[in-house]
Amino acid sequence: MAHENFIGGAWKPAATGATDDVVAPATGEVIAQVPSSDTTDVDAAVTAAAEAFTTWGSTTPRERSEALLAMAAAIEDNIDELKTLEVDNVGKPVSIIDFEFDLTVDNLRFFAGAARTLQAQAAGEYLEGHTSMLRRDPLGVCAGIAPWNYPLNMATWKFGPALAAGNTFVLKPSELTPLTALKLAELAADILPPGVFNVVCGQGETAGDALVRHPGVAMVSITGDVETGKLVARNAADSLKRVHLELGGKAPVIVFDDADLESVVSTLAENAYYNSGQDCTAPCRVVAGPRVFDDLVSGLGSAVSGLAVGDPTDEATEVGPLVSAGQRERVAGMVERAVSGGAELVTGGSALDRPGFFYEATVVANPTQDSEIVQREVFGPVVSVQRFSDEEQALAWANGVDYGLAASVWTTDVGRALRMSKALTFGTVWVNDHIPIVSELPHGGFKHSGYGKDMSLYAIEHYTELKHVMLKL
Ligand code: NAD
Repeated sequence: MAHENFIGGAWKPAATGATDDVVAPATGEVIAQVPSSDTTDVDAAVTAAAEAFTTWGSTTPRERSEALLAMAAAIEDNIDELKTLEVDNVGKPVSIIDFEFDLTVDNLRFFAGAARTLQAQAAGEYLEGHTSMLRRDPLGVCAGIAPWNYPLNMATWKFGPALAAGNTFVLKPSELTPLTALKLAELAADILPPGVFNVVCGQGETAGDALVRHPGVAMVSITGDVETGKLVARNAADSLKRVHLELGGKAPVIVFDDADLESVVSTLAENAYYNSGQDCTAPCRVVAGPRVFDDLVSGLGSAVSGLAVGDPTDEATEVGPLVSAGQRERVAGMVERAVSGGAELVTGGSALDRPGFFYEATVVANPTQDSEIVQREVFGPVVSVQRFSDEEQALAWANGVDYGLAASVWTTDVGRALRMSKALTFGTVWVNDHIPIVSELPHGGFKHSGYGKDMSLYAIEHYTELKHVMLKL
């Protein structure tokens, strides 16, 4: 696998020759160097994608479906190498890696099938002597900008629907985690015509920004931080390109006094610390009823203090490192400020004294609603627990953040579950669970968590333009 950009079916270094180091989070060591691209490289990729669109944009749904199925099969055939790359480059424990690869392959097969079902309504006669019909046309060149927490999976959520709908694609992986994107390009080289799928590595402010501003890009889809999303929306405005924003989250877990506490604790201990808590839907912000609060804090504290944090290649490890030194510093700072602001440290709260970017699995109790740890995304192995007095306060606290990606309600009262589901301002609401996702159903945010949906038919529709054709008879 080459550590170069993949443009128009060929491997190319950055035009300037510049490179960025790729670091292994478990050791802090440099494991690769990839191009640090700028506008020249981005322009070459967009030009190649535009050229490829002249033929790929006219392929049949069956042809596109077969290509995506071949990509899914190629990922499966190379799954061990891809998993190893993600373990090394993101620090994911081998004990948790299977789930997201299974999801990635299933996502692609879903998009392959969905490519053949995409329909616009056959309209009819709305004006005497005229027949109308609706078409769903591809947009042209779409750009995808991916984050580092699920590098291959987030890329798939973007190129899958884009290619299914007949667009061509330029992917910019995160500068921290580009390796699986480059392996994906190697697989695509044998399956897709040159220029249909391109990968340009580089920093957000240079390569990413060049894609966002490029007049030849019809749509940019980014998964990343809220502040990055705002900047992208602003910078895309001059070329009026379509923007798809999957941004941060701060998922509340609302635990009523009648909830199954054992189930809450085991779900939190597993899913809040999965991927070291670097998950936009992680159940990180618990608001618990007055009678269940004490048992929940002590149960969660002992479950979390027993989690094995360490070497991601060890099968016994449950929580690996954070992705970078900077991310660990951010997490540690937020926990320190929470505790100095009056929250109780139940367990964790320290970096591990070893190479790499490890941080203990942490629980803090009783932060105030307006504190940073409640209001801002930590994106690390940290859960906060607040005690609410009644349903009204639980709802106000749950909704009382800028984010709106995902939430869960834990109760055995069906009426309350339905009332809360309606009133919660989040793109996904789970009842008595927190985290499962499936290819058929949409994932996306309300409020500052962004707009546009990933997965499902709604995602594919977002990568198309609806056209009205009217014929005079
Ligand atoms: P980030 O915003 O730092 O970077 C995301 C991507 O944007 C990277 O590829 C980066 O290079 C690029 N980028 C940065 N500045 C840019 C600019 N000015 N123009 C164009 N591109 C730019 O985010 P991250 O730290 O890589 O990822 C973590 C964030 O992603 C968290 O906030 C997390 O919640 C969010 N996330 C959201 C979802 C979701 O589905 N909503 C899923 C996963 C992660």
